Amino acid sequence: MVLSGGVVHLRTLRSLEQPWCWYPTASAREGNEHVTPLIDRLRDRGWRLTAQRRVIAEVMTGEHVHMAADEVFEAARSVLPEVSLATVYNTLNELVTLGEVVELTHADGRKRYDPNVAERHHHLVCIDCGRMLDVAADDPRLPEEQAHGFEVLAVEVTFRARCPDCAVA
Ligand SMILES: [Zn+2]
Ligand SMILES: [Zn+2]
Repeated sequence: MVLSGGVVHLRTLRSLEQPWCWYPTASAREGNEHVTPLIDRLRDRGWRLTAQRRVIAEVMTGEHVHMAADEVFEAARSVLPEVSLATVYNTLNELVTLGEVVELTHADGRKRYDPNVAERHHHLVCIDCGRMLDVAADDPRLPEEQAHGFEVLAVEVTFRARCPDCAVA
């Protein structure tokens, strides 16, 4: 009883501390400009890397990575055919809980997974093709009289735009 209460409490705290936007990792708090790839961060923290989990982390590497679960699945399966969709979902959920990946809900309602948790960023999204880029921009400030007594924990800005490819189409 005590244990389950503790777990619920922890989850509540986590969901407050780790909303669907930028989450400060240790390296960001220390002002470290270098962004360590997801796979290296997981290795550093001693996360149990099975073949499937390693491939999933490896396909989520690079700049502007915001993949939906089925995209992670397809990419991972092309490297390791035995990867299962269930493992992809379980791994993504675990990475979100660890704070190593941030879950974003796109305008189309699909969840995307963002491994760039070390760099403060907002998103530039093409309304036509859904391409999503990380961008650096100042946070908007909520005037105190508009805060209604709420404590603002995080801000995530989405710039809805049309990418150059879609603009000429
Ligand atoms: Zn586009
Ligand atoms: Zn991002």
